[in-house]
Amino acid sequence: MQIYKVGGAVRDRLLGKPVTDIDWVVVGATTEEMLAKGFRPVGADFPVFLHPKSGEEYALARTERKSGRGYGGFTFHASPEVTLEEDLIRRDLTINAMAEDDQQNLTDPYHGQRDLEARLLRHVSPAFAEDPLRVLRVARFAARYATLGFTVAPETLGLMRELSESGELQALTAERSWKEISRALMEDQPQVFIEVLRECGALKVLMPEVDALFGVPQPEAHHPEIDTGVHTLSVLEQSAQHKQPLTVRWACLLHDLGKGLTPEEEWPRHIAHEHTGLKLIKAVNERFKAPKDCQELALLVGQYHTHGHRALELKPSTLLELLQSFDVYRRPQRFEEFISACEMDARGRKGLEQRSYPQADYLRGAATAARSVAVQPLLEKGFKGPELGEAIKRERLKALKAYKEAASA
Ligand code: ATP
Ligand code: MG
Repeated sequence: MQIYKVGGAVRDRLLGKPVTDIDWVVVGATTEEMLAKGFRPVGADFPVFLHPKSGEEYALARTERKSGRGYGGFTFHASPEVTLEEDLIRRDLTINAMAEDDQQNLTDPYHGQRDLEARLLRHVSPAFAEDPLRVLRVARFAARYATLGFTVAPETLGLMRELSESGELQALTAERSWKEISRALMEDQPQVFIEVLRECGALKVLMPEVDALFGVPQPEAHHPEIDTGVHTLSVLEQSAQHKQPLTVRWACLLHDLGKGLTPEEEWPRHIAHEHTGLKLIKAVNERFKAPKDCQELALLVGQYHTHGHRALELKPSTLLELLQSFDVYRRPQRFEEFISACEMDARGRKGLEQRSYPQADYLRGAATAARSVAVQPLLEKGFKGPELGEAIKRERLKALKAYKEAASA
């Protein structure tokens, strides 16, 4: 048998990027030979194995053919006769379809190296259209390598457009889509992921709620960029520049969905968009089965981001309601993430990227003030049950009044 490094490991070495996980392809072997060498099978009927020591993935060279809708609709054929070239042609992009032996000799039948130099993301063969996930993968690679100057080849974008229009994207499972979306959001330029999806018509299918924001104006005084879609992309970009976690990035993407529902007569104002957006945020959350912490933060940021911006003007009672809604006493981290998302929203506006955001420290201070109310003295006074709850609330309100006065003095 011959063993080759393939895919990302080869691509990233040629790009001079650090290689994290290595995928291997094995030519000329049978399942029985792999098992005899101690490799562990990944699934019952898939020719992929884990190395007994390194745990890295070793796949038998295989060919694939589409036999139906969705990912289940694939038949593959793995046998010792399948050549390296036959295995490489089923891969998504030319830059991902190179292999290398242990002497670093490159096998590159589809000119991946040429496309690396030309900074092009190009499909390997027309079979690209057989798996709609590749639309998301290409958009994700575009986001990852945008800084290096990579763009999607026009022919590939054309295929992505056909796939988006064919209805095939709907056949993707939530799990496969979320994996790509979440990885793309964690790239340095996540806004490029959304831009590429929009360009090929996939955004309209996957997240029509986000697509609908393009062309919707906002008041120029607060939003010099005017367009809500452009603003959303900038907020996402800021979230990456500030190294925010996935929860915050997801919330940034979805925070203004309500603006897509505003009747045109009301433009450029968006009265109550925080409220109208909630059902849309919920729908997107559920469509991709986003993890619970992402879902929660997106809904809270959607509902309260304007409160964040107006923090310094909020009445102590409204501040208290805000802190209670976040359960800041038990979930301090979540409130901190909310503050970050608000800050990204404030900075994701044309020309305002470097502005200061005093609301952040003000909100942190308010949380500290409310949290500093001690329960013990109230217990000692004999408060119990719902009365105790009310008493704690009164004390917290007092603390917030004092905090607001001190801050404005
Ligand atoms: P990353 O750095 O994100 O891991 P990668 O290129 O290694 O990038 P993997 O998802 O680990 O991506 O897949 C390894 C290789 O398998 C890819 O380089 C590509 O050749 C191939 N591949 C993975 N998924 C697909 C797919 N859906 N369609 C075609 N080829 C794929
Ligand atoms: Mg990989």
